[in-house]
Amino acid sequence: MVNGERQEATQSKLRGSCPSCEQEVVAKCGPLKIWHWAHKGKRNCDPWWEPETPWHRAWKDHFPAEWREAIQWSTSGEKHIADVRNAAGLVIEFQRSAISPLERMAREAFYEHLIWVVDGTRLKNDIPRFERGAKDLRGAIRSGYFMTRLPEECFPQTWIACSKPVFFDFGGHDGDHDRRSPMASGGNLWCLLPGRVDGNAVIARMSKTQFLEGAHQFAQAFPNHSILEEIAADITARREAERQAQIEYARRVRFFNATRRRPRF
Ligand SMILES: [Zn+2]
Repeated sequence: MVNGERQEATQSKLRGSCPSCEQEVVAKCGPLKIWHWAHKGKRNCDPWWEPETPWHRAWKDHFPAEWREAIQWSTSGEKHIADVRNAAGLVIEFQRSAISPLERMAREAFYEHLIWVVDGTRLKNDIPRFERGAKDLRGAIRSGYFMTRLPEECFPQTWIACSKPVFFDFGGHDGDHDRRSPMASGGNLWCLLPGRVDGNAVIARMSKTQFLEGAHQFAQAFPNHSILEEIAADITARREAERQAQIEYARRVRFFNATRRRPRF
């Protein structure tokens, strides 16, 4: 905040105050690092703070300035800064660095309506793992939805047990095609949904454009959880159809055997 207004770091040594802890911050606008505000001294006010990278910046720039670095209070007086909170209240956290399971769970508990966007290119093995794992995905009832019993063969372990949707960004742009990583290219985000259906993890493929449309308007995490119920109902219906087919088959076999054994004259 500079003179009572939110402002970007645009000029070196400009001073302001942090909207969260109200301590003094100073603008760092050098030639090497992305321009940013820094707290004086080394202390950061939010323990969940992650240093901003060009990857964060590029994502956040898709959203209006007043939605970025939104301060959120809990009823118990705990306070955190959300990367983006849209006008409807949905929080989007962009995560690049490693995060402990405890911190991940704490954030999921703190923000009721939350979606994660994770940099899927951070570790050398991230894309090759996904390329191998994605071969075993099975299509689900709706186009763009897939199932797997082994989501850990597609995504980093840290994110497997999330209670909120996690979108993996493998880089690339709409329309790109990379022969070496056909699944990860094309500017699609791959979302691991929370919860399981009949032991299967559900994964959704979404273009960045589609994602941004949702992220601008929805109040609740998406893809909507009802897709899991839809898939579960589909599995039950298929099983029932299979059972009926087996009963019918058994009936025909019995009938066939009975008629064969019957003497003809
Ligand atoms: Zn602060």
